[in-house]
Amino acid sequence: AAKHGSKGSVAVFDAAMDQAQQERREFAEDLRRALAANELWLAFQPVVDIATSRVVYFEALLRWTHPTKGLVPPDRFIAVAETTGLIAEIGKWVLKTATRIAATWPDDIGVAVNLSPVQLGDERLDEMVFGALAKSGLDAHRLELELTEAVFIRHGERARSFIEKMNAVGVRIALDDFGTGFSSLGYLTRLPVHKLKIDRSFVSGQTALKERNAVISAVISMARALSMETTAEGIENEAELAWIRGLGCNQGQGYYFAKPLRAEDVQPFLDRRSRRRARKARISEPLA
Ligand code: C2E
Ligand code: MG
Ligand code: MG
Ligand code: MG
Repeated sequence: AAKHGSKGSVAVFDAAMDQAQQERREFAEDLRRALAANELWLAFQPVVDIATSRVVYFEALLRWTHPTKGLVPPDRFIAVAETTGLIAEIGKWVLKTATRIAATWPDDIGVAVNLSPVQLGDERLDEMVFGALAKSGLDAHRLELELTEAVFIRHGERARSFIEKMNAVGVRIALDDFGTGFSSLGYLTRLPVHKLKIDRSFVSGQTALKERNAVISAVISMARALSMETTAEGIENEAELAWIRGLGCNQGQGYYFAKPLRAEDVQPFLDRRSRRRARKARISEPLA
């Protein structure tokens, strides 16, 4: 019908637009309410040192349990939070909550927090980070912030000065979803970034193995040349871990190690792993 350009189809199209807009507005209202109603919570997924298999830190991942819709995935509501400006408030809550919870963990375990490119536009983001550290008592060296390449398109200079301030106090910076961005690699050499997180699509994706190998090897050798670490996201099975280990990646994250955990399950998870470690060490001890 649309190709005839009849008035009827235009009216239907407008109505659909209105409805989509209305739904977005309602969704945003709902999210605002959710924040106040404590429906948002953080899950924590371990990141493991591939050589030693020790947990190095946990990534904080935002969750929304909606009273009627159930669990809403972050990929859906973060975009809405970004377009409505609500991300500032949500981001602040995430930083405060993640640092407060991480301060209760063993002090060799860190926490990573995702920052939206929109948050980098906030001139007081650095103060917000310092405030969260001070209030929680978490050592700055235990905090890692995950940015995406998009921040360098949106806020090039500000992103750089923010990263430098974080570096000055020991907060680490990782580039998330690396390999999916705009890949102007020149900026990497000029930025004091500690780590590249290789996107899941190159680890457990549908892309042919040959291509994934090429991308990951290139990222790892570039990271080495620039003295950066690498973390592979989305390791789902033993074969993927063996392959990633062979390529020389420093750290791994994925369902093979653990799905994102509730805060109360973090310490039991660590205890289980250290018991398993102790058992393994005993077994491999030479018999007296
Ligand atoms: P991300 O930062 O790249 O986080 C990794 C995502 O991969 C998480 O999805 C995690 O649950 C998922 N994942 C980890 N291992 C595996 C695996 O082995 N297999 C599969 N299929 N998936 C795995 P999640 O929690 O749904 O988060 C999606 C994205 O939402 C995040 O991607 C991040 O970009 C954004 N996000 C989450 N929390 C926050 C937050 O607090 N602030 C901001 N700004 N963004 C957030
Ligand atoms: Mg991340
Ligand atoms: Mg990621
Ligand atoms: Mg990702």
